[in-house]
Amino acid sequence: MSGGVTCLSTIVEVRAALDEARARGARVGLVPTMGALHEGHCSLIRAARAENDVVVVSIFVNPTQFGPTEDFTKYPRDIGADVRVVDEAGGDLVFNPSAEEMYAGDHSTWVDVQGLTDGLCGRSRPGHFRGVCTVVTKLLAICQPERAYFGEKDAQQLAVIQRMARDLNTRTKIVACPIVREADGLAMSSRNIRLSPESRTQAPALNRALRVAQTLVAAGERRSSVVDKAIRATLAEAPLGEIDYVEIVGAENLTPVETIVGTCLIALAVRFGDVRLIDNTRVTA
Ligand code: AMP
Repeated sequence: MSGGVTCLSTIVEVRAALDEARARGARVGLVPTMGALHEGHCSLIRAARAENDVVVVSIFVNPTQFGPTEDFTKYPRDIGADVRVVDEAGGDLVFNPSAEEMYAGDHSTWVDVQGLTDGLCGRSRPGHFRGVCTVVTKLLAICQPERAYFGEKDAQQLAVIQRMARDLNTRTKIVACPIVREADGLAMSSRNIRLSPESRTQAPALNRALRVAQTLVAAGERRSSVVDKAIRATLAEAPLGEIDYVEIVGAENLTPVETIVGTCLIALAVRFGDVRLIDNTRVTA
């Protein structure tokens, strides 16, 4: 599995390849993605490369985590380009299954993390995390990695997966990786390429708003209402963006706080047409 990327699309093949690697004593690292890979994904692949002997990158636009009115069909797909990116970032194996392969037969088992999924993206995207947790559980069962890598860009997803792994006594260690941004501060996302030029110009307001919040908290502001107002004022500099949510929540339980104490997560989601962008930061008071 050296000298180029092996591309596999069936569960049987991936299992056989990884069983063979493990039999040689190799440690397996998994990076689950939906493709349209960018530097954010590459940072996860490189982190996996540094800590494991075999790096598997799954590329699967998971239909069960998209709502009926969401962008499943418009989600960018370019497997040829993705395989080259995986190769350059140091991945060994791409697992690119079809939806039929992943959800064969009368699929009827779902993994649902309660509580943590109530707010933030869970509120705007009912069923989203059920789809995410189910597919991640399946990928962990298929690949049985020593470690699996997730980005802090999707902070709620990371918290939900960490909880799921803890609750289900999963052997795999969940590794968190920092957010990678464009030069103008916009968090990298596969969806960024779908922004109109005008929206792309306005989208860095998300990160600017988070930095305004950080500055306020660093200066001693503790009232969530005041920080929330400042965030919304900065987001107003992006008139094409429609706020989905701005929330200040406890970093552990993800429930809204009135007063910022300890470590809190400030998270937001903004729609530019049918492109929904998310970003977040942690603050400690
Ligand atoms: P996706 O392909 O959007 O499902 O993302 C796959 C993984 O890459 C998830 O764990 C994301 O959190 C992570 N990821 C996506 N964008 C970034 C980014 N800008 N920085 C760090 N990680 C990211």
